[in-house]
Amino acid sequence: MCLLRLQSESSTGTMSRCTGRCLHQLDPHGPDPGAESRRLLCGGGARCHAQSSQRPPAGQWALVPYPGADASLCGMVATGASGTNAVRYGTMRDNVLNLEVVLPDGRLLHTAGPGRYFRKSAAGYNLTGLFVGSEGTLGLITAATLRLHPAPEAMVAATCAFPSIQAAVDSTIHILQAAVPVARIGLSVLPEFLDDVMMDACNRYSKLNCCVAPTLFLEFHGSEQALAEQVQRTEEITQHNGASHFSWAKNAEERSRLWVARHNAWYAALSLRPGCKGYSTDVCVPISRLPEILVQTKEDLKASGLTGTITGHVGDGNFHCILLVDPEDPEELLRVKAFAEQLGRRALALHGTCTGEHGIGLGKRQLLQEEVGAVGMETMRQLKAMLDPRGLMNPGKVL
Ligand SMILES: Cc1cc2nc3c(=O)[nH]c(=O)nc-3n(C[C@H](O)[C@H](O)[C@H](O)COP(=O)(O)OP(=O)(O)OC[C@H]3O[C@@H](n4cnc5c(N)ncnc54)[C@H](O)[C@@H]3O)c2cc1C
Repeated sequence: MCLLRLQSESSTGTMSRCTGRCLHQLDPHGPDPGAESRRLLCGGGARCHAQSSQRPPAGQWALVPYPGADASLCGMVATGASGTNAVRYGTMRDNVLNLEVVLPDGRLLHTAGPGRYFRKSAAGYNLTGLFVGSEGTLGLITAATLRLHPAPEAMVAATCAFPSIQAAVDSTIHILQAAVPVARIGLSVLPEFLDDVMMDACNRYSKLNCCVAPTLFLEFHGSEQALAEQVQRTEEITQHNGASHFSWAKNAEERSRLWVARHNAWYAALSLRPGCKGYSTDVCVPISRLPEILVQTKEDLKASGLTGTITGHVGDGNFHCILLVDPEDPEELLRVKAFAEQLGRRALALHGTCTGEHGIGLGKRQLLQEEVGAVGMETMRQLKAMLDPRGLMNPGKVL
């Protein structure tokens, strides 16, 4: 994982990876407000760059959740985006403190009250939460106040290969159950899963030489001493589950090479069938159900005759399928859509959700109904009708 550095007019340094109208990193009034008040106020055009290879030095502050593609920060709020680091730092949902929203009737709403940036509140309804993930259907987000996190002293990235999907996911579960990062030092394990087809594509695309097998990517943040303990425990757990081809990267260049390979997953998948378009879908299930849905999905992929890869954030129970479609073949597109719908239903049957990151948009409206039920849908429709009675905001999306 790489942390984004923030451009700032503050005394803590300059930002390198976040561009646009980022207004303040620190409280402009008075002395340094301390860790809990570190925040970034960004305007509608501010963008996050996914492939940052730079790590802010310890003592600086960073915006952490980011998706696998470049995106606007307000777009990330609108989709409730997250990334490989959600296990430790949460999703956008956990990192938004306040939003400025233009409502469909033109009024300006500050979801937490003008100028406020508290971490918790029991005051009324959670309007900020309502707009995070609303996919542009309730109002236009024109500014966001986001949490910043302290950059750790050191980071170690690792990859290891497994004989099976089950063994890779079991390792993840055992690492989390053993509370490797949190119990000992309060920092994180960021497991990232790539399937063997994906790994092969990544190797070829990013000119790597990783083992073509189910592979976990892990990253640890903390002090040098704490990292050594985490690394040792993780090796014990993964070796117990049959891991091989261990490699650890502490050096920033090597670490970033691994993660760039992960972030190139989309383009690596596209390179499997030149000329084809990518169709990406995602689901999220309770982590205990992850092995069975991954195994089923892999079997479904084989049976479908489609070309597709699996990549995911196993620590959250979230994974993606990137399917390749010939734009000249409408029948193949129908099969891809049927596959995505079947995957969504499999996730629902396992007490999961039809999307952990990508949202409902137009394609998953039926699955949303199946997920939340009639009363849930009616409540959402009433909220939409109250805020946007003329249906101006992204008509037809989500509901
Ligand atoms: C290769 C690739 C990898 C990806 N990986 C991830 C990932 O790991 N995790 C993840 O969460 N997502 C991922 N995504 C999806 C995408 O990057 C995120 O959904 C991102 O947050 C969208 O931001 P955007 O600025 O591109 O928004 P857009 O795509 O422009 O818009 C997305 C939605 O948000 C609405 N919207 C945008 N801006 C605003 C605004 N200011 N106010 C109100 N509504 C608005 C739009 O109307 C639209 O409905 C990936 C996409 C690609 C192509």
